[in-house]
Amino acid sequence: SDSHFPIPISPDEVDLSQHYPRYFPAGEGESRDGDAAAPRIRFADVGCGFGGLLVGLSTLFPDTLMIGMELRDKVTEYVKERILALRASNSGMYDNISVVRTNSMKYIPNYFRRAQLLKMFFLFPDPHFKEKNHRRRVISMQLLDEYAYVMEVGVIPEELLKADPVVKLLSTATEEADHTIARIFPLQAKAINFQNKRRES
Ligand code: SAM
Repeated sequence: SDSHFPIPISPDEVDLSQHYPRYFPAGEGESRDGDAAAPRIRFADVGCGFGGLLVGLSTLFPDTLMIGMELRDKVTEYVKERILALRASNSGMYDNISVVRTNSMKYIPNYFRRAQLLKMFFLFPDPHFKEKNHRRRVISMQLLDEYAYVMEVGVIPEELLKADPVVKLLSTATEEADHTIARIFPLQAKAINFQNKRRES
């Protein structure tokens, strides 16, 4: 249950030196508090599983700090070990990725400030769309407000998505499309709305 893993009371309490020691050397952590130039976590992989996406993204965006969020204890430990092993055998690489054991449905605002994130990844985190799984679903109308809050304004590219031929293909070519697309587009519309309102305010 949640009582088995520590929960930061606010994003300020997230110990970045523990996750990214090359960026926040031990002992210097506190001196970077309030330092506007200090790097911040920019990508989150929600339900990161065994961390394959993080490992791939790490070298693709070598200057971007990113974190995986994973509910299962053993899987999280595996990802930690995987990252440490990669760092050990590739000096100067994989210092920008880390993982945390947490329930992303509850604690996203404990980890990220408003508009902090540039990308959030949700790769197959959800149980099937059956009604009985409803309460375990990581993508929902309610949670979308939270995701929009922690995302930088303007990074959900409405025009790009409309123009992207792959998006059109998604709605016709895959068998899950009936379930999936019907859900994705209202969610996307809602996120864009939310961010537009924020931009105006
Ligand atoms: N994203 C990975 C991939 O594409 O290989 C893993 C996909 S796996 C089907 C879904 C993962 O999401 C599982 O490891 C599960 O433990 C995790 N997960 C499910 N609900 C979660 C939650 N509320 N918070 C954090 N992780 C969650």
